[in-house]
Amino acid sequence: MWNLLKTLAASIGMRFSRRNRRPNTGEARTLPGVWFDRATVVEKTPSNAAVVEKHFVVVRYKDKFLWALFKCPCRCGEVVSLPLQAPHSPRWSVSINNAGRPSLYPSVWRNKACMSHFWIEDGRVFWTLDTGMAPWIAKPTLYHRQDRRDGLDV
Ligand SMILES: [Zn+2]
Repeated sequence: MWNLLKTLAASIGMRFSRRNRRPNTGEARTLPGVWFDRATVVEKTPSNAAVVEKHFVVVRYKDKFLWALFKCPCRCGEVVSLPLQAPHSPRWSVSINNAGRPSLYPSVWRNKACMSHFWIEDGRVFWTLDTGMAPWIAKPTLYHRQDRRDGLDV
């Protein structure tokens, strides 16, 4: 009977460890901490001075998300403003999970100053390896310096 229990415990333990393993990797990875703990939806675009660190602001008008604003998570102090609707191109999409935390798609690659490159999922900031490099230097076939002429100011 004792042996049976031990065998049972061992198989349960195995199942747990298998379930906790992340797909495609054999090692446990920890998620970055939550940076934006909630998205605040407002009707009027706030001034840059009103956007404080770790706040994710979504401007909505008539059920449409228009803009996302937040302070760059690298702590350079600059406010990132992203268009969320046509006719802007590029534009981003924002979703807000049940806990009120934002996800942003696709990633943000700032084309000036800190050149931060990151994406946001469930309020967590995921940094890419090429963050800090100018996009047109890291990926010259995809990005051109002339992209600035589009008025994109991220
Ligand atoms: Zn920055």
